[in-house]
Amino acid sequence: MSQPDMFGAPVDAQAPAAPLTPADEAARLREALHAHAHRYYVLDAPSIPDAEYDRLFQALQALEAAHPELRTADSPTQRVLGQVLDGFASVRHVVPMLSIRTETDTEATGAEAFDARVRRELALLEDAPPVDYAAELKFDGLAINLRYERGVLVQAATRGDGENGEDVTQNIRTVGQIPLRLQGPADAWPAVLEVRGEVYMRRDDFERLNERQRERGEKTFVNPRNAAAGAVRQLDPAIAAQRPLSFFAYGLGEVQGWAIPPTHSGLLDALAAFGLPVCAERTVAHGASGAQGLVAFHQAMGARRDQLPFDIDGVVYKVNSRALQEQLGFVTREPRWAVAHKYPAQEQLTQVEGIDIQVGRTGKLTPVARLKPVFVGGVTVTNATLHNLFELRRKGVRVGDTVIVRRAGDVIPEVVGVLRSEPPAPRAPYVPNFRMPRHCPICASTVVRERDEVNHRCTGGLFCAAQRKQAVLHFAQRRAVEIEGLGEKLVDQLIDGGLVRTLPDLYKLGLMKLAALDRMADKSAQNILVALEKSKLTTLPRFLFGLGIRHVGEATAKDLARHFGSIDRIMDAPEDQLLAVRDVGPVVAKSIRTFFDQAHNREVVEQLRAAGVSWAEHEPSAEADAATLPLAGKTLVLTGTLPTLGREEAKALIEAAGGKVAGSVSKKTHHVVAGAEAGSKLEKAQALGLSILDEAGLLALLAAPAGQPPAGTVPPAPGNPDGSEG
Ligand SMILES: [Zn+2]
Repeated sequence: MSQPDMFGAPVDAQAPAAPLTPADEAARLREALHAHAHRYYVLDAPSIPDAEYDRLFQALQALEAAHPELRTADSPTQRVLGQVLDGFASVRHVVPMLSIRTETDTEATGAEAFDARVRRELALLEDAPPVDYAAELKFDGLAINLRYERGVLVQAATRGDGENGEDVTQNIRTVGQIPLRLQGPADAWPAVLEVRGEVYMRRDDFERLNERQRERGEKTFVNPRNAAAGAVRQLDPAIAAQRPLSFFAYGLGEVQGWAIPPTHSGLLDALAAFGLPVCAERTVAHGASGAQGLVAFHQAMGARRDQLPFDIDGVVYKVNSRALQEQLGFVTREPRWAVAHKYPAQEQLTQVEGIDIQVGRTGKLTPVARLKPVFVGGVTVTNATLHNLFELRRKGVRVGDTVIVRRAGDVIPEVVGVLRSEPPAPRAPYVPNFRMPRHCPICASTVVRERDEVNHRCTGGLFCAAQRKQAVLHFAQRRAVEIEGLGEKLVDQLIDGGLVRTLPDLYKLGLMKLAALDRMADKSAQNILVALEKSKLTTLPRFLFGLGIRHVGEATAKDLARHFGSIDRIMDAPEDQLLAVRDVGPVVAKSIRTFFDQAHNREVVEQLRAAGVSWAEHEPSAEADAATLPLAGKTLVLTGTLPTLGREEAKALIEAAGGKVAGSVSKKTHHVVAGAEAGSKLEKAQALGLSILDEAGLLALLAAPAGQPPAGTVPPAPGNPDGSEG
């Protein structure tokens, strides 16, 4: 075994001649897994592939299963365990978890007032040097106390009322960023180290979680803080483990057997060295006066707030020196040496003035609340998404309601809920005063919602102005008709400039118009025209796929083309005929029917044909007589480089002829098509005595009637079960 261990030395070099005992091996695996988890979760710089981590993990699991006595509390295999709880046990904090004073003056004067207060308390004279402050972010999550005894995580508790919290150890163990065991040499671990910090949810993790909830038609979370708090206080650890949480350390609780660093910034460095995640966005404010450095930090972080991957609601200033902190002490329940300096709130109240519909690039209809303008998260917001009709109903939003609007980061502002009168009056059942339109507000096409779908969609497809860009990009992609060089930027220019409204307009573009576009050289304009010309010769499956009919992917397009043989028969096929095609179910059949029932979509097909887009058609071949195709039931393998056909092209031709292309050679392979530099696949085919073709042989086979190998090709090897393969 030459797998390097965590220190980069080959394991063999370290291993003595005697084989490792199971206990040593388990310790070695735990060590390696802890180190890799730290790099992965905390440093965000994994050093080994996931598969290798899984291998080490499984090796440890197997070892522990065979030797249960080797299973330790800090073993990485013990992250997700435990049963559903009835409730949480109470934990008494040895050192109370206090809150810090909040400065709600969000201007520079907020920082200046804190500095002045500290200087006054310390009885510093006007000309005394500035106080050093550690400045850090105020995370919008849930405060947690982590207790490590001799380096091992033994308990995690919430703040609770500050004196007593709840034991949430089994949920906190599922947070990958929280080390189950401290890093560094064991003799440096304190007898007791309580680390305080914030459990939070990253904004992208939050958005993904809510997106998943929405798709399942389940309740969404109001904001990342609520989602994080809900996960930490989840009684079922298996559910908690599915909620992606993160952690930042920022302070201490009880400590025994450790010399605490003399400054707060030094403490954070020490915690980071123990393998705990510490936010990199922190500083020690120097400068002409302490306050000036704090103001600069507050402003810099305020400007960067939207770009941070998580929510903050302010910054925190702490007197850096522990000696000065002790001198300052506490006033009632708050330390005099720290303050939270807030930013404008990311949630505000306002009124819904109306509900509009937005049509997205893919045809999705989104209800959007038109709001009385409100300043939230640093900008004035006039619109907020309601996502879909079901979410709108679940939240009970009505035009005229006062709602809570959230705007954080670059995320689109959303309505998170309705403000109810307090105490809640006995409410009549929710009666919406909004309906989804039955026709697209942009193109007037029919609006549909499929079974088990939460979203309404415009069926306008090619015709709908809102979907034009998407439609052109889809049509032009490599797997559709392939128009080389027609990318997102150019499509934006063509459509925004009014040069292209529907797909057929692409083929009306001339050199003059193209070359006149911004940043378009004559040569690239010429290249686009060549690519457009080239794209005209296509195949029926590619064309059909390119139309962007919902639910008609590449595979379905191939099946349809094979079954019907011509675009006209597909356009005219009633649903029952469509259902006869392999893998076409009611949803797909309906979607195809709806698409071609719209006259403007048929018009697009006609115009494309008139523009010269063409493909080969054949007689209809119901699944039963698909056997009439020349390669029906045959499996082919492609290897090496063919003189003229590209790999994808050859594959498309074979599939259009009813054949299948496999990735590897076996006894079940009927033909191997070999080009230049064919390697092991060719050798294997020769060894198995399979039929081997060159490109000319393949083309001859494609042109031959079914079942008859064209002259000049080697017949299938004896014993090859012709056509018996599924
Ligand atoms: Zn539309």
